[in-house]
Amino acid sequence: MKLVCVGRNYAEHARELGNEVPEEPVLFIKPETALLEEGESFVIPAFTQDVHHEIELVLRISREATGVSSEAARGHYDALALGLDFTARDVQARCKAKGLPWEIAKAFDGSAAVGRFVPIPEGEIEFSLTKNGDRVQHGTTSQMLHGFDALVSFASRYFTLKPGDLLFTGTPAGVGPVASGDELVGYLGSDEGLRLSVR
Ligand code: MG
Repeated sequence: MKLVCVGRNYAEHARELGNEVPEEPVLFIKPETALLEEGESFVIPAFTQDVHHEIELVLRISREATGVSSEAARGHYDALALGLDFTARDVQARCKAKGLPWEIAKAFDGSAAVGRFVPIPEGEIEFSLTKNGDRVQHGTTSQMLHGFDALVSFASRYFTLKPGDLLFTGTPAGVGPVASGDELVGYLGSDEGLRLSVR
C-alpha cells in the first residue's frame, strides 16, 4: 500500500511557498510506514525544527488503475477522507536549495494521517483545518488546478494504483508550523472528519 501525493495543486499555496504554479501535477510518494494508525498522535521528529500541517482531500483507490483516462478514472476510487500531509519544511528547503529530491522531508515515519472515509460528495467540496480552535486552512475543490479524475489519470500513467492506495490531492493556502501540544481538527463541510494531537 502506498500514498501518492500531489504538490502545488492550489495556486495560492504554490505562491505562499514561492513556487511556480506547475502545468502538470507534481507527484511524490509516501510509503505505508508514513501512515499513522487511527488514534495515534503525530510526534514531531528530532530531525526538524519546522514541521508544517497540510490538510488535504484524500481519495481511496478501489480498483487497480494503470494508464486510465480522466473519463474512466471515476470508476477507480470510491471514498473520500481528510488527510494531513506533514512536511519538514526546513529539511525540504535545504533539499530544494541543493536541487535534490525532498523525499525525506515528506515521506518519513508518521508523516501522514487520514480520517474517516465517506462516499464521494456530489458537487463542490469544502474543507478546513483548525489548530487549537483557530481556522488556519480552508479550501474547496473548485480551487484545485487539477481535479480528482485528472489526478487519478495522471498518477496512473506512472504508478499503477492498487485498491487501498490513497491519493492525497494537495493542500490549499495557510500551511504553517505545528508544536507539541497542538490539537488539529479537520472539517469536511461542517462535519469533523479528522482529529489529531501533536506531541
Ligand atoms: Mg501536501
